[in-house]
Order: sequence, then C-alpha cells, then structure tokens
Amino acid sequence: MIIPKTPKLTDAQLEDVTRIVAEFGCRIQVIEGAVQSIYAIVGDERHELLINRVAGLEYIDRVDTIQSPHKLLDIRSELKNHKTVFGGIELGKELLAIAGPCTIDPANPNRFYETAEALKEAGAHALRGGVWKPRTNPYSYQGDNKALDILMEGARRTGLPVNTEVMDEENLKLALDAGVDMLQIGTRNALNYSLLRKVGQAIAGKNTVVLLKRGRHIGPINEFISAAEYIVNFGNPNVMLCPRGTLPSLEGYRNHPDESITPLIKEKTWAPVVVDPSHSVGKSVYVEACSMAAVAYGADGLCIEANIDPTRGLGDDPKQAITPEAFRQLMEKCQAIWNLKSPPESSE
Ligand code: PEP
Ligand code: MN
Repeated sequence: MIIPKTPKLTDAQLEDVTRIVAEFGCRIQVIEGAVQSIYAIVGDERHELLINRVAGLEYIDRVDTIQSPHKLLDIRSELKNHKTVFGGIELGKELLAIAGPCTIDPANPNRFYETAEALKEAGAHALRGGVWKPRTNPYSYQGDNKALDILMEGARRTGLPVNTEVMDEENLKLALDAGVDMLQIGTRNALNYSLLRKVGQAIAGKNTVVLLKRGRHIGPINEFISAAEYIVNFGNPNVMLCPRGTLPSLEGYRNHPDESITPLIKEKTWAPVVVDPSHSVGKSVYVEACSMAAVAYGADGLCIEANIDPTRGLGDDPKQAITPEAFRQLMEKCQAIWNLKSPPESSE
C-alpha cells in the first residue's frame, strides 16, 4: 500500500509508480479516501526491490506492508482516516439510523410513502425498502421492479437517501441507474464474490455506499472483513459491515443474535459497523433490546425494519417490523446509550 506525501498523486506520478510496479508483475489500484487517496499494489508486493524503488521516490511518504488478510480494511491501514458519510451522518461521530419496511408492496405505494414520512419524522436518517427479495422459500414473493420507482419516490418525497438489496447484475444496474444511495448485499450473498466484484466495480468513483450483511452460516470475522475489503479493493471505500444474526437460531429468536461481535470487528478494522437487530431476533418485541445492546457494544448505526402497519406489510414485516412510534422510542434509548459512550460535549 503506497502512501504519498500529498493527499493524491499527480497523473505523472501515478504513471511513474504504475510503471515501476509493472516491472514486478503488479498493478496499482487507486482507493479514493475522503482525506487521503492510497495506492494499493495488486500482486506480490513483498518484493524488497519494488518496495525500495517506490519508497525512494521523493513524493512518496512510505510503503505500508501490513501483514493482514485484509490490508485495506485493516485498523492499521492509512484508510482508517476515511470518513464514510451517509444520510448526513459521519459514521463514528453520530449514531446512524436506517429504517423502513422489509419489502415494498408494489400494490400499495402509499403505505411506503406514509411509512417513509413517519420514519423521517421519528428521526430516521435513511430509508430501507426491499425491491428484490431473497427468500428462505423460493416460492415466496421475490420482488418487483415496480417497487424501485416507489422506493425512489419515497426518497424524493422525504429527501432521505435509500437502501435496497441487489442480488444480481440486473438489479445492480437498475438500482444504480435509479439513483439508489446504499446497496445492500444480503446474508445469502455474503460470499458471492462475483456479485461483490460487480458491485465494487460498478460503484468505483461514485458516492454509493454498501451495506454488507454477515453470512448467516456463522461467517468468521476475518472472512466478513475480507469480503468487504474485496468491494473496497475496486476503489470505493464506503462499505459498512452489518451483523444480522447467524444460524443456528436460538429457540425464540429467528437467528443467533451477533451484535456482540461488534467490538471484535472494530479491533480489526476501521470500517463502520451497522447492526441489523430485526433479522437477528426476528420478532418486533425483541428489536429494541437488541438495538440497545448493539449500541452498547459500539455499533455505529442500526438498520431496522419498520412499517406504519406491520401486520399488513410484505415479507418479514408482520413478524419483525416495528412502528414508527416504537422506532422513535427505541432511538431515544439508543441515543442515550450512545451519549454515555461518547458524551456530546467531549465529542468535539
Ligand atoms: C432484508 O434486509 O430484508 C434481508 C433479507 O436481509 P438478510 O440478507 O440479512 O436476511
Ligand atoms: Mn427482511
């Protein structure tokens, strides 16, 4: 990983560096951080002569050779200074709240608009809404392109950025063309590297943010971080890691709640952690406690299923969505826990 003395290399400097690393069979991938661009050496970058040649250039500060399975996302990486901003919130500075229905009902656009307005009023910084749905049973409702227009109309009416899950290249293209701000990669695709690659390539150079869910089959932490790194490796560092419960479930909970892995993730990576308590516990009555625990464990944000009328929602909503009023109360409690950890006066 090459760190220049300036925030960015000039075109001529980049050409020089690219030529040098090419002599060693490597190439350069530019990662544009908000504060500092860094230049990843792709290939076997441990060649001593290569490191010395690049480190010796007058405009290079240093070449980091961190030994880590995920060098870019490593807590020691220069990218740790990258600030991810979403929904007007700088991650780590304030608690991010994303909320919305599991699935947008294409036959009832008004329910989504009313939910979106109510959630905005209750303090949500961004909306979620499933357009295309992965399901436990393949014969269940799998989504509808029409819901994408409804999602974007909700964004327009509220002025809030929106999150939706993409499962293939076609979804990805439609979502980006429509202006979706945050792409969700679901737990069932957590290790679908060809999808992660396509997402990484498609968002390079854009402000798009990715919410990567943790694999439900107890994805190890390094594997989770490496999957996120693979997206970042294509140039856009705006990725957030989302614990959402794993299998096997605990009796009574839909999954095995895993918000407690947050500090373990944070020991290894600078990438923000946004917990999804809804899929974790899978029942609306437990969502508040799980959210509070997530914040206590150090989560930077929450992604919560909510609906003005959960009983009439599609997908998971009848089981696990909370109402906007419950969301407001939950956020007040979570904010109080956040303030205990980082009191507002001392956060300057
Ligand atoms: C969802 O967010 O509605 C969803 C299906 O998430 P997950 O991939 O975590 O199951
Ligand atoms: Mn859901």
